[in-house]
Amino acid sequence: MGRASRDKRDIYYRKAKEEGWRARSAFKLLQIDEEFNIFEGVKRVVDLCAAPGSWSQVLSRKLYLPTKLSADSRDSDLPLIVAIDLQPMAPIEGVIQVQGDITNARTAEVVIRHFDGCKADLVVCDGAPDVTGLHDMDEFVQSQLILAGLTIVAHVLREGGKFIAKIFRGKDTSLLYCQLKLFFPLVTFAKPKSSRNSSIEAFAVCENYSPPEGFDPKNLHRLLEKVGSPSGANNLDCSSGWLEGPNKVYIPFLACGDLSGYDSDRSYPLPKVADGIYKSLDPVQPPIAPPYKRALELKKASSHGIQELEKLSLDS
Ligand code: SAM
Repeated sequence: MGRASRDKRDIYYRKAKEEGWRARSAFKLLQIDEEFNIFEGVKRVVDLCAAPGSWSQVLSRKLYLPTKLSADSRDSDLPLIVAIDLQPMAPIEGVIQVQGDITNARTAEVVIRHFDGCKADLVVCDGAPDVTGLHDMDEFVQSQLILAGLTIVAHVLREGGKFIAKIFRGKDTSLLYCQLKLFFPLVTFAKPKSSRNSSIEAFAVCENYSPPEGFDPKNLHRLLEKVGSPSGANNLDCSSGWLEGPNKVYIPFLACGDLSGYDSDRSYPLPKVADGIYKSLDPVQPPIAPPYKRALELKKASSHGIQELEKLSLDS
C-alpha cells in the first residue's frame, strides 16, 4: 500500500503525521485518557515498550511540557518520565530513555534508580511481540509480556497507582482479568476508537494498585499460578475450568474516545488543497534501528547478488 493510499485508508495514520506524532498509537493513549483521566496528579511515569515513542510524546506533551512552560515551576516540580524498549529511539524532551528488556526484573531496578528510590504513579505498556498470525500463540506471547509488565509494576508502582496495558482479546481474557484483579480493585478493558475493530487488541485500564497484604513481588508468579477468584474468595486452580458456568466472569468492556469522531475502520477522502494535489507527509520520526533493518540489508544484498548473476549470464 502506497503512502497516499494509506493516508486515505487510515485516518489516524494521516492525523498522526499532521499532528507530529511518531505513530498512530498516540491516539489510543489520548482516547484512554479522555475516558479515564489517567494523567491526573501524575508526577512519575514509566512507559514500557515505548519505541518509536508516540506514547512517550503524549506523556511529554501532557505532563512534562506544561509544567516546564509554567512560569513559576522549579526543576524539582518537573515530572519524571522513563521510557524502556528493546529498541533505541530518537530523543523526546523530558523523557529518560532506557534500552532494555522488560522481561528482565533488573529493568525495574533501573527505573527506581531514575526515580531516586520513589515509586511511579502510572505505568503504561503498549508492548507487542512480533505477531505470527497464529491467534492462540500471539495471545499467549502477549500475555507473557503483560505479566512481565506486571512484574515491573509490582516493583515500581505506588499503592493507588494505575497500570495501562495492551492486551489481545482471546479465550484467556477472563483469566488475565482475574489475575489483574488480584492487584487492582478496578480493572476495565477498553477499546479506543483509533484501534480497529478488526484488531484483537484492547487495553486493560487497571486502577488503584492494592497488592494483597504481605505480597512480595518476588512471588508474583507463584501467586498467579494459583489465582484467586475475582472476589479473592478462594484459591482455585485456573486449569480446572473454574471460570465457566456460575463462576463465569463478565468483563467490563468500554469503547472510548469521541464516539462521533473518526472511525479507524473507514476510509476518508484526502483533504482538498489549493493546487488540487494532496502531498502525503513523511513519517514524523522513522525508527532509528528497527529490528527489520538487517533483513532489509540482506534482502537488498541478495537482490544485488541476483542482478549481478543475471548480468554475468547475459554477458557470457
Ligand atoms: N507505544 C509505542 C509508541 O507509541 O510508539 C509503540 C510500541 S510498539 C507497538 C511495541 C514495542 O514493544 C516495540 O518497540 C518492541 O521493541 C517493544 N517490545 C517488545 N518486547 C519487548 C521487551 N521484552 N522489552 C522491551 N520492549 C519490548
